[in-house]
Amino acid sequence: MTSKPSLRQGRPYMAIPGPSVMPDRVLQAMHRPAPNIYAGAIVDLAASLVPDLKSVARTKHSAAIYISNGHGAWEAAVSNVVAPGDKVLVPATGRFGLGWSDMVVGIGGAPQVLDFGKRTPWDLDQVGDALKADTAHEIKAVLAVHVDTSSSIRNDVPGLRKVLDDLGHPALLMVDCIASLGCDRFEMDDWGADVMVTGSQKGLMTPPGLGFVFFNDKAEAVRKAMPRVSRYWDWSPRADPEFFYEYFGGTAPTHHLYALREALDMINEEGIENIWARHATLARAVWAAAEAWGSDGPMEMNMSDPAFRSHAVTALRLGAPHGTALRDWVDQTLNLTLGIGLGMAAPGDPAWHGFFRIGHMGHVNGHMILGLLGGIDAGLKALDIPHGDGALEAASRVIAGV
Ligand SMILES: *Cc1c(COP(=O)(O)O)cnc(C)c1O
Repeated sequence: MTSKPSLRQGRPYMAIPGPSVMPDRVLQAMHRPAPNIYAGAIVDLAASLVPDLKSVARTKHSAAIYISNGHGAWEAAVSNVVAPGDKVLVPATGRFGLGWSDMVVGIGGAPQVLDFGKRTPWDLDQVGDALKADTAHEIKAVLAVHVDTSSSIRNDVPGLRKVLDDLGHPALLMVDCIASLGCDRFEMDDWGADVMVTGSQKGLMTPPGLGFVFFNDKAEAVRKAMPRVSRYWDWSPRADPEFFYEYFGGTAPTHHLYALREALDMINEEGIENIWARHATLARAVWAAAEAWGSDGPMEMNMSDPAFRSHAVTALRLGAPHGTALRDWVDQTLNLTLGIGLGMAAPGDPAWHGFFRIGHMGHVNGHMILGLLGGIDAGLKALDIPHGDGALEAASRVIAGV
């Protein structure tokens, strides 16, 4: 037998859950000299982004743009409504609720964390009990991660709104849609979210570096009653700028704005409802394959109940050392990069090597998902990791709709 040819040449697929695949149109939009930031086209372009961002967020309220990643958007949101000593409630599933809670600690707030672990969504009864116990209404906000990217759990935001409403609790509902916006259905106004945060590099298909905070009038009233808000994170001038530089608290992130303009054009062309439907179908193809693989051998989806699974990312358990071995194999052999298992075990613990995640968010289509699943299937075979048959058949049926 001759030696095996390399199969790495060709377009790579970065299937980690963010940064997601960037469309060529988005990349090309950035390929130009810097514009004048004091006058001219960039001023109009920046203004044009705001209504389109609000329409993706399904809100008629306000939007502030930050030069930041998701952590910056987290800090921006809480900096406007949480003063030192203020209490917030954080129902956490997986890593990201804990991360947002830690930002609150950093600005002197007092989070109360309800940790539901890595494999179960929020228990809304327990959230209700914690709010009921707060008879003085000291809890100022509930920090809610819609899709936890580490566990791939999608939480029930309308259900959480109902808990607050039924109890007549005035806390702000603040939602992290960093992994879900532009992938999973999210309706800021209809679902009664008061604040929503997201970032550019996931469903919005734009390089990391922009953070967004959307807020309604109730949140704005809380902002107005704050003793002080840091100049840079203050959302008021950004959402209602008198001068162009106030949108960004300084120099505009010019090339990110070109990229985002193009990405929002693509989103408008496809339509957000179609985007949600595409993600739902592609997610079902991934799940169908994972179920078939898991019918024999160690593979298991982290989230067993499909009703609480994200349409943008799927976390899987394969047992150590198979998770890392599979990621390494598809990366080195096929130029396909899968996500690590985030927060599932401590780095350094041998169990850390038992997990992986598939990012299927943003600019992904049927052939990319079928190729990705084929790559994983080949990896399981090459590495002799036990698995059930029929995964690609099952995924093809979902894509074919038969
Ligand atoms: C990616 C992500 C974050 C963090 O975003 P960074 O850009 O890495 O700071 C926060 N929350 C969720 C749900 C995410 O998916």
